[in-house]
Amino acid sequence: MPTCHDMKKDEIYVCNKCGLELKVVHECEDTSEDCGCHPSADPCTFSCCGEGLQRK
Ligand SMILES: [Zn+2]
Repeated sequence: MPTCHDMKKDEIYVCNKCGLELKVVHECEDTSEDCGCHPSADPCTFSCCGEGLQRK
């Protein structure tokens, strides 16, 4: 399951269940491990239909 640190500009992520596709227009600028976008212990991940998005 991708986190915001994995997702780079112009990459496309697809949901294998419903076919949703997301394109990264601007990537996360915080390259530190404790990026403020995941306040809990879990990294901020992106999923759809209960599964992680796959890089296309
Ligand atoms: Zn989906």
